[in-house]
Amino acid sequence: MKILVINCGSSSLKYQLIDSDKEEVLAKGICERIKIDGVLKHTTSGKEKKVIEAPMPNHNEAVRLVVEQLLDKENGAIESLSEIDAVGHRVVHGGEKFASSVIIDDEVYAAIEECNDLAPLHNLANLIGIEACRKLMPGVPNIAVFDTAFHQTMPEKAYIYGIPYKYYEDYKIRRYGFHGTSHSFVSNRTIELLGKPAEDTKVIVCHLGGGASICAVKGGKSIDTSMGLTPLEGIVMGTRSGSIDPAIIEYIAGKEDKSIAEIMNILNKESGVYGISGRTSDFRDIDEGIKEGDKRSKIAFDVFCYQAAKIIGGYVAAMNGVDAISFTAGIGENDGEVRKNICEYLGYLGITIDSEKNKVRGEEKLISTDDSKVRVYVVPTNEELKIARETVELLK
Ligand code: ADP
Repeated sequence: MKILVINCGSSSLKYQLIDSDKEEVLAKGICERIKIDGVLKHTTSGKEKKVIEAPMPNHNEAVRLVVEQLLDKENGAIESLSEIDAVGHRVVHGGEKFASSVIIDDEVYAAIEECNDLAPLHNLANLIGIEACRKLMPGVPNIAVFDTAFHQTMPEKAYIYGIPYKYYEDYKIRRYGFHGTSHSFVSNRTIELLGKPAEDTKVIVCHLGGGASICAVKGGKSIDTSMGLTPLEGIVMGTRSGSIDPAIIEYIAGKEDKSIAEIMNILNKESGVYGISGRTSDFRDIDEGIKEGDKRSKIAFDVFCYQAAKIIGGYVAAMNGVDAISFTAGIGENDGEVRKNICEYLGYLGITIDSEKNKVRGEEKLISTDDSKVRVYVVPTNEELKIARETVELLK
């Protein structure tokens, strides 16, 4: 089957056309600067990359241009739209309504709309993408795959916050968790690598990218994760603060006469590794900074690794053990220094890393030594492939 996977952001649209039988990418690309001017970067497998500047006043036009590229006589990947069997959409927030992927009909569409409150910018963009595909490809089924769905197996004790219970009852304020597609993909693969029945496994997945979250997966199910009601909670990230004392918000507001909206913007966009280092949100630059002797790059690196290790330690307690820890996403897959530093805190678990194997970048690999009591893996994530697989499953 040929599955078009769409990941719609507020001003961008990423896509991949996937042959789900061979699990191969036939074409992929990204539309950027939607509603501003519009740039489309498209690559059909085995052909040259194309960059097209074209006005994209809205997501409808972006989807239309993507379809045009896919059908292009010289540079395209398909001859007719009828070759696309379904479209799988990444949807950020499914609230408590969606514990798994679904085929989108009018009822589902309305239910996703009801979750908009919880992630206004993201969900709205996802819905616009869905609407555009419905219009331009009538008759082709659309499937929603939620970032939150995998974590719906968390027990109450993991998702209830220590605030008046009425806020959960009235507004559904609770931990939801994100990166679910990635945590599910990577934990499944880790369980395969362990070669044990899923129900007997305890796995911790560290998704460390621009956004970062850690997930405890017991018996193949998410039982806790570090992001919360929103992706702001958890470990320090590229530009997000991660968990802080909530009283800091009032304190800064008083000192600098700032509104809550302004402070939330600082916590989302000017904090984390960027805020601490004062120079970059990118770990490649942090590693360079440390080599050059930059003190604040070193603080950012240390805070990041220390916080990750503390969460992993907490999840070992939550599961009463751990069989494997897997690193994924931009930092997790590529930065051996981060992996080494985090694992050094976990020596008490009998974890030892093989420094040769730990040189790996972006490839699946066991990086712990043969006598390590817990296996440590690098498992590259593939959210698009996971969305394509879920889509095919639902079509069956
Ligand atoms: P997202 O921003 O969607 O979370 P990624 O998972 O690709 O994206 O993560 C991007 C981050 O990964 C970059 O900001 C950078 O910090 C980090 N990264 C990418 N490549 C490397 C590398 N070779 N070494 C260290 N860090 C890297």
